[in-house]
Amino acid sequence: MTGGLTCCWHPAMSAIPTKALVLTMVFRAGFTRNNNLVPTVSQDQQANTLPSALYVVAMPIGQWSDLSSRAIEVLGCVDVILAEDTRVSGQILKSVGVSTRMVSLNAHSEAGKADRVIESLESGQSLALISDAGTPGISDPGRLLVDKVVEKGFQVVPVPGPSALTAALSVSGLPAAPSHFFGFLSTKSSARDHELERALSHDGTLIFYEAPHRIVDFAERLDQKATGRKVVFARELTKTHEQLIRVAAGECADWFAANPDRIRGEFVVLVGPVSTERTQLSVDADQILRVLARELPPSKAAALTSELTGVQKRILYRQLTGEPEA
Ligand code: SAM
Repeated sequence: MTGGLTCCWHPAMSAIPTKALVLTMVFRAGFTRNNNLVPTVSQDQQANTLPSALYVVAMPIGQWSDLSSRAIEVLGCVDVILAEDTRVSGQILKSVGVSTRMVSLNAHSEAGKADRVIESLESGQSLALISDAGTPGISDPGRLLVDKVVEKGFQVVPVPGPSALTAALSVSGLPAAPSHFFGFLSTKSSARDHELERALSHDGTLIFYEAPHRIVDFAERLDQKATGRKVVFARELTKTHEQLIRVAAGECADWFAANPDRIRGEFVVLVGPVSTERTQLSVDADQILRVLARELPPSKAAALTSELTGVQKRILYRQLTGEPEA
């Protein structure tokens, strides 16, 4: 497949002579590992340079063809690519014909390499920052570097694209506003408890990243602590085994226990807001309900509270158990 495209550059490109702006992008048939057609960078593009800046470029989170045309253009034109893992990124960059020099910049080296990056910017170079998957700085290296570059007065330019965070939120069916992103919880049990409890005290949708070997632990904690809230597990987004699991807190661990294959892959975990029904309860009804529930079964406690307060029994029962009454 071939096609012509006149590049639409970032406003920063206005500093470049018009001739250089009119780049012809040749789409060459290129097949990724999962046989997706992706555009590749042309020799013309590689010959052009960008205004000096740090370009923060989003990479695919699974599907290589999600790498945007603009990302390919920028990666093909910068002087240096700062990559979290040069071997991981090298594969995808090769598949789109980008041969720009790569330098490793990861969580351990980020702070130490910032001064070199500043020197490069001072000498007029352009650099791109990429991570192994998704958007740099989102639970990935980048924030420290961006902060330093901004502090020194250099330009930072986003080249947006995939992120597991926005991809998951967009298909969750949960409100995006307000929403709170917590990234990974701590790996230590007591800190995990504390962080999760603090997160659950926020109003709105809560978004977490989790590794497969901790997903069952996370599911169990949600079952215990997030009573009455919806949970969405967004698994392997954009990949072959993509799956969106929508359950209620209380059912999370059971879902994983039903099939060991379900713990495989990468996960975004989203927790819905406290239900409107719950927030509409008066403090009095809520207090009565809890006191009675200490001594009585949920159905009886809900029935008596309903009689005393006029709040519907089914709302009270759900408030107590997180589930509709059978
Ligand atoms: N910077 C990345 C971004 O913008 O999404 C996130 C990097 S963070 C080190 C990796 C975590 O992101 C994974 O453990 C998982 O929680 C989430 N993640 C990345 N890719 C994913 C995918 N394809 N499906 C679901 N979650 C994913």
